Parts: sequence; structure tokens; C-alpha cells
Amino acid sequence: MRLIIATKNQGKLREIKAILKGVKIKVVSLQQLRRQFRIREDGKTFTDNAIKKAMAVSRYYRNDYIAADDSGLEVEYLGGKPGVFSKRYAGRDATDLKNNRKLLHQLKGTKKSRRAAHFRCCVALVKDSKVIKIFEGKISGLISEEMKGANGFGYDPLFYLCRYQKTVAQLPLSHKNKISHRSKSFNKLKKYLKKTGF
Ligand code: IMP
Repeated sequence: MRLIIATKNQGKLREIKAILKGVKIKVVSLQQLRRQFRIREDGKTFTDNAIKKAMAVSRYYRNDYIAADDSGLEVEYLGGKPGVFSKRYAGRDATDLKNNRKLLHQLKGTKKSRRAAHFRCCVALVKDSKVIKIFEGKISGLISEEMKGANGFGYDPLFYLCRYQKTVAQLPLSHKNKISHRSKSFNKLKKYLKKTGF
């Protein structure tokens, strides 16, 4: 029995494998499987998308556990947007830079007190086409007025953490990986797997 991590993103995979170290189940990635998957992430919530990805893989790998995640940015002033559209906020040809610029534009003139935002990550654990459990992680901050820092990806240059007086992109990656929404949700998965005997 294995735990298949349903992501093709090698950076994420390294991060997840590091978190799951010590768990007594073989962790493999989608790329290690014979069958390849193309899954459309068209759900209304992070949970929908995570479940959709995990289910698609589970159909063909019934004896394995599948963990799939979906994540993104929610800005309170924008009613939770960009949410599930985080990756393509600026449109079909969106890049991280274009997305960040669009976000800055949407929040132009908005006071600091109204720039609260959250990164949210949702992990679905599925086996034999059944959802076993959902694990959520969240980190809260403010959308700053300018991009700062070169680490990380996505909205990290705009996501300001008051505690450190830095954007996430100004933190070393090793630090981000300890406090991120993703690490929180996958640490919950780890705790669950250990409790289950793995
Ligand atoms: P994914 O589908 O979980 O890979 O994430 C969707 C999008 O959410 C990414 O393309 C980013 O724009 C944004 N996002 C998710 N996690 C992070 C993060 O840790 N930092 C910055 N942006 C993120």
C-alpha cells in the first residue's frame, strides 16, 4: 500500500515529502505512476478541486491512499477572490507578475486595515474512491502596497506577515515551509496517518 501525492509540481512534492518523513507508508508522486492524468480544476471551492483530483487517481489505484491538495489566496475586501481562480486571476495567459499587478490594481487606494488576506490549502485523503478526510491549513496576512522579495512563488511578494514585518517572498523558503498553509494541512495529514498506525 502506498500514499500517492496527486501533484506534478516538483517543488510542492519535495516540500510534502519532507513533511511526511517518518510516516510508515511509501510516498510516491503522480510522475512515478504508469498512467498519466490531466484533471480540470473547475470546482467552486478548494475542497471540491482537491477531492476531484484525488478521486480521478483513486479510480485507477484502488488499493492506494491518494492525497491531493488545492490552494490559493482569499482577499477579504474582494469577497474571497481570487480563491480557486488564484492561478489564472489575470486571465488565460496569467503569470505570477500579472496576477500580482491585477491584485494591486483591485486594491488601489484601499486602507491597510481593509487589506486582510489568507492563503488557504485543502488536502483530500481518498481511498477506494471514498473521501476519508479533509485537512485544512490557513495563514493570514495583509496585501502590501508593493511587491517585495524574490523567494517563493505566486502572491508571496504581496503577502505581508505583520509578525515578521516581511512579505512571504522575503522569508527564506525553509521558514515559509514551516508556517505555510500547505505545511499546516499536510502536517494534519501526517498526524492522522500516524494515528491510523502508519
Ligand atoms: P495550486 O493550484 O495549489 O498550485 O495553487 C494555485 C495558485 O494559488 C498558485 O498558482 C498561486 O497563484 C496561489 N498560491 C497557492 N499557494 C501559494 C503560496 O504558497 N504562495 C503564493 N501563492 C500561492
